[in-house]
Amino acid sequence: MIQRRSTRQVMVGNVAVGGDAPVAVQSMCSTDTRDIDATVAQIQALEDAGCEIVRIAVPTKEAADAFGEIRLQTTIPLVADIHFDYRPALLAIEKGADKIRINPGNIINADGMRAVRLAVDAAKERDIPIRVGVNAGSIEQKLLDKYGYPTPEAACESAVNHVHLLEDLGFDDIVVSVKFSDVPRMVDAYRLLSERIDYPLHLGVTEAGAAMPAYIKSALGIGSLLANGIGDTLRVSLTTADKTDEVVAGFEILKALEIRSKGPLLTACPSCGRAQVDLPALGLQVAEALKHVDKPVKVAVMGCAVNGPGEAAEADIAVVGGRGVGMLYIKGKPSRRVPEHEVIRALLDEIAAWEPSPEAAQFPNGATSR
Ligand code: SF4
Repeated sequence: MIQRRSTRQVMVGNVAVGGDAPVAVQSMCSTDTRDIDATVAQIQALEDAGCEIVRIAVPTKEAADAFGEIRLQTTIPLVADIHFDYRPALLAIEKGADKIRINPGNIINADGMRAVRLAVDAAKERDIPIRVGVNAGSIEQKLLDKYGYPTPEAACESAVNHVHLLEDLGFDDIVVSVKFSDVPRMVDAYRLLSERIDYPLHLGVTEAGAAMPAYIKSALGIGSLLANGIGDTLRVSLTTADKTDEVVAGFEILKALEIRSKGPLLTACPSCGRAQVDLPALGLQVAEALKHVDKPVKVAVMGCAVNGPGEAAEADIAVVGGRGVGMLYIKGKPSRRVPEHEVIRALLDEIAAWEPSPEAAQFPNGATSR
C-alpha cells in the first residue's frame, strides 16, 4: 500500500491539489494561445479525455487577452504559464487564471523584485496558487557556479529559495516542480525537495520526447516517485500531435500504481507457443473496445486455457482464447463460451452487467496519507 507524503492542500479552481486529494492529472495546450478557437478545441478534447487542469502559455499581452476569451469559453481550471514577463501574468490573473506558473528567478532577472511582488499580490488578491516551476535549464547562475552544473541539489535549492521568497512576501498558496529531462536527476530532485518542504509537488519529466521512450521515461520518473508517496499532481510531457495522449498516459501511471481508477485496467498475457488465438489482434480489439468504457473494471485477455484462467483469476472479467472460441471468466470462475467473432460483444455485455465492489468504487484505492 502506498503511503502518500503529507502535504498542504491548494485549490486550482475547483480541483484540490495536495493533502488527501487524488493525484490530479494535467496537460498543457500546444496551440498558439492567440488562436482562441484552436485552443478552446484542444482544451475540450483534453477535458473529454479526463484532464483536470490545463496549462496555457501566456508569453505576451496578446496571449493574455486571448487567455481571457478562452477562460470565458471553458470551465476547466486554467493555469497561465509565465516565463519572463510578469505583465502577462497580471493580465491572466485579472482575466480569471486559476493558477499561474512562474519561475521567480526568471522574472527577477527580467524585471526585478518589484515584478514578483506585483504578481504575488495579484495572486493573493484573487486567492489563486502559484506554481514555482524550476527546470534544469532555468537554474540561477550562482547555483550553477556552486554546483558546477544543473544537479538535483541545485534545482532543489533554487526551488526552496523561490518558495522562501514567496513566503517572505506573505504568500504560501504554493505548488512546486523541479523538472529534468532525464529520470535519475528528476527523481533525485523531487526526493530532495520532498524532504525540505511540505507544499504539494507537481511531477513531470520535462521534454521527455516522443513515442515509447517518452512514455517509459515518464512512467519511470513519475511512477517511481508516486510509488514512494511523492507527488500531488502530474503532467506527462509528450511530443505528440494529440495532447490527450498525455492525459491517457497520466491516468495509466496512476492506474498501474492503483492510486486512482479511471476506466478499465487491462492486463493481457504476452502470448507464447501455447496460444490458441491471435493474441496481439485480440488484445488490440479489446483495448479499442475498452476506450469507450468508464467502469473501473479489471479485464484480462489470455491466450490459452493452460495457464490463462489461473493468471486471470484476479481480473473481474477475463477472456481466454481457445480454438475458434473465447471463454469468459468472471472473478476467476468460468462463465460462458462464445464463438471467437462474438468475444468483444460478449465482453462488453459482461462489463455492462458488472458492478464495482464498494472498495473499487472508493478509489484512490490503496493510497493513504501520512
Ligand atoms: S496465458 Fe497461455 S498463451 Fe498466454 S503466455 Fe500464458 S501460457 Fe502462453
